[in-house]
Amino acid sequence: MGSGDVAKNSVESAIGGMCTEARQLLDSFGLAVQELLLLHDMQFTAILEGDPEASRFDLLIHLANEKKHNAKYAYMTHLEKHGCSFRNENYTSRSRKNDR
Ligand SMILES: [Zn+2]
Repeated sequence: MGSGDVAKNSVESAIGGMCTEARQLLDSFGLAVQELLLLHDMQFTAILEGDPEASRFDLLIHLANEKKHNAKYAYMTHLEKHGCSFRNENYTSRSRKNDR
């Protein structure tokens, strides 16, 4: 129930028009995002626990952020060149309308 279902449906309809390579790129992007979130979480916990070396996460977060950026770029570039997603006009116009 709720907005989670809508987001899931949008992702599924987007994935429907994708080739294997695009799916793999999207997968790596998702993993990079998760890794970044995990590092933020770990740093937050370290700071809460008064870990004097909590700032060591800054470099790791920076690297993970770069990785995420590169993964996103690779994915977006593939879609642009290959045009294997966003073929579904309903999906594109619907997401534009929801964009506030
Ligand atoms: Zn493709």
